[in-house]
Amino acid sequence: MKKRPFVTLEKLQEITKEIPTPFHLYDEKGIRENAAALKAAFSWNPGFKEFFAVKATPNPFLIDILREYGCGCDCSSMTELMLARAAGCSGGDIMFSSNDTPPEEFRFCDEIGGIINLDDITHIPFVEQAVGHIPEIISCRFNPGGLFKISNDIMDNPGDAKYGMTEEQIFEAFRILKSKGAKRFGIHAFLASNTVTNEYYPMLAKVMFELAVRLQKETGAHITFVNLSGGIGIPYSPDQEPNDISVIGEGVRRVYEEVLVPAGMGDIAIYTELGRFMMGPYGCLVTKAIHEKHTHKEYIGVDACAVNLMRPAMYGAYHHITVMGKEHEVCDHLYDVTGSLCENNDKFAIDRYLPKVDMGDLLVIHDTGAHGFSMGYNYNGKLKSAEVLLKEDGSFRLIRRAETARDYFATFDCFPDLYEKILKD
Ligand SMILES: *Cc1c(COP(=O)(O)O)cnc(C)c1O
Repeated sequence: MKKRPFVTLEKLQEITKEIPTPFHLYDEKGIRENAAALKAAFSWNPGFKEFFAVKATPNPFLIDILREYGCGCDCSSMTELMLARAAGCSGGDIMFSSNDTPPEEFRFCDEIGGIINLDDITHIPFVEQAVGHIPEIISCRFNPGGLFKISNDIMDNPGDAKYGMTEEQIFEAFRILKSKGAKRFGIHAFLASNTVTNEYYPMLAKVMFELAVRLQKETGAHITFVNLSGGIGIPYSPDQEPNDISVIGEGVRRVYEEVLVPAGMGDIAIYTELGRFMMGPYGCLVTKAIHEKHTHKEYIGVDACAVNLMRPAMYGAYHHITVMGKEHEVCDHLYDVTGSLCENNDKFAIDRYLPKVDMGDLLVIHDTGAHGFSMGYNYNGKLKSAEVLLKEDGSFRLIRRAETARDYFATFDCFPDLYEKILKD
């Protein structure tokens, strides 16, 4: 499938007059259409709820849009919990799927009525001590171990993942939690990441629904939800076929009717914690070509770097690049597209064929709407970029300003003179 930016060159020229590059741009129309499609795909399940994985795109203005489609938030840290609150989430809107969790975060989650998803059986006494009681609604994270396969394809390696409890532990955990007053139970698993196949969720659902039936039968715990978590992926590369969320929803429904309904558990709510799928394609990183370099290879230097988008440097991830205004030109120039960090892995593309890039060209780096800005860091004293929302009516709004040097120096507030002198002029 050909990848097209959701923004035109003219619109970008208008935006860059006000907001300098680099910045992340988000597509309100795309976010809304996709959120509506997810909701429709699972409308057969009365309790269905998506808890948006806040870590993917922690911006309250974007979360606000998702809230209109009934989404809550999935959090895994104190500040994410605070952000969910700031975005208007209350009680049942917050899922806390954390791991290696400090006691005060469990406490805060309980205070604001979030649902705690226990990563381990040892967290039962830990939560009991931190919170003072075991919440009435509680969830446990499952890790079946081994490899997670679809047909013969290895999707991921849960046996090597730090998350979740073994099957034996989850049975034991349910018994203990029940004896300590838990009344409503959920189970959760995240077994494969960024899956670009309509089969992942239905396969995961089968594993989880069968587990739910055994758990309820053997422990008597009342299971009220199954959380299929994240993992539905997006086509980063143009040769990938995107997932069809309506097919995925139907696939889960089939398994639900096959496994849960006959067991008399047809009232279970399906929860999801999608991040990438909700936002990934509806964000891009806008950057400008500022250097060209002809040495042993051909380099294009842009004004963004890995602190704005870490995925290529960290995972060797592919992100499609469009040179704006040259969409119809032939891609006959072989480039490495680099950022300015003193790290040789700071490359958005390696050996990528693009149209001839001229200095000042605007480049759109696709699919940065999830795990893009949010993975940012401050290496080399680089400052985090702005985030901009392209609204449905074509206007745009700054939804997070860029960091300034003052922000960077703010944590030296124990030495005010140190930076005030520099920043004053
Ligand atoms: C990261 C994460 C998600 C979201 O994953 P995506 O691949 O972005 O959908 C959901 N739940 C948990 C617990 C996570 O850690």
